[in-house]
Amino acid sequence: NERHIATPTRTKELLQKYNFSFKKSLGQNFLIDTNILRNIIHHAGVTKESGAIEIGPGMGALTEQLAIAANKVLAFEIDQRLLPILEDTLSPYDNVQVRNEDILKADVQKELQQYFGDQEVKIVANLPYYITTPILMNLLTRELPISSITVMIQKEVANRMAASPNSKSYGSLSLAVQYYTEAAVVMTVPKTAFMPQPNVDSAVLHLELRKEAPVAVEDEKFFFELIQASFAQRRKTLRNNLNRHFSAKFSKEQLEDIMNEAGIDGTRRGESLAMDEFAALANTFTARS
Ligand code: SAM
Repeated sequence: NERHIATPTRTKELLQKYNFSFKKSLGQNFLIDTNILRNIIHHAGVTKESGAIEIGPGMGALTEQLAIAANKVLAFEIDQRLLPILEDTLSPYDNVQVRNEDILKADVQKELQQYFGDQEVKIVANLPYYITTPILMNLLTRELPISSITVMIQKEVANRMAASPNSKSYGSLSLAVQYYTEAAVVMTVPKTAFMPQPNVDSAVLHLELRKEAPVAVEDEKFFFELIQASFAQRRKTLRNNLNRHFSAKFSKEQLEDIMNEAGIDGTRRGESLAMDEFAALANTFTARS
């Protein structure tokens, strides 16, 4: 255990040995607590039957624990300077491959199929916080053959992604994520678990991918446009936000009619609408255009 990468001593040794300096612009906050890593992997449900994809292995702290827990690991790291370090730290493990690629540009679908075949694959990562939402939305909309995503992210963002209607954190991001997954915040993690310590609080979000959409939507693009519009001004009523957004296409009377037909009271706020209500409203719009 002493020799595991995710310890303050080993991490400091590696930083010195390779004269490595953290790049803030790449969200480099490395984990130095092995117990927290094991806990993340436990929540991810990774076993010797599963493959794991990691985004941003850093110096290999989480990668090592994944190599121990999973059948095989495939990791994508954008920072070329980390490649020789990873080669060193991961040399005891023969079930890991590292790709020097930006996860947003990599052909994940193809690499996944080639490397894992038809094995069950889970994504586990301590994400770079500056691009958490683009990375997650990118992975979710690509329809990858993965069963779950378990990621350390900024606590506030994790809360927004997992939020329920009528809560302060509920918004278009909650609906976007929950359209594709069942989301839950499973752990909060103290700043002291990282080197260097981040400025924000962290939490682990677990996303279980849905096999089918939770609501029937005629036009997905419009569904998400309607959701965005409904939250444009949080303190305003749904009626107000919709009038503002759709004034060029629909008169006030038409909008009242649509809300009535969908059974949604225009004096409500967007934050009170559940996903099935947004779906009913969106489908009523779609039927009229
Ligand atoms: N997994 C390591 C750990 O837990 O100690 C490092 C996590 S650190 C928060 C995020 C890592 O993601 C860094 O190693 C960074 O270089 C890498 N990264 C940043 N942007 C990336 C991108 N677009 N694609 C792949 N990796 C990226």
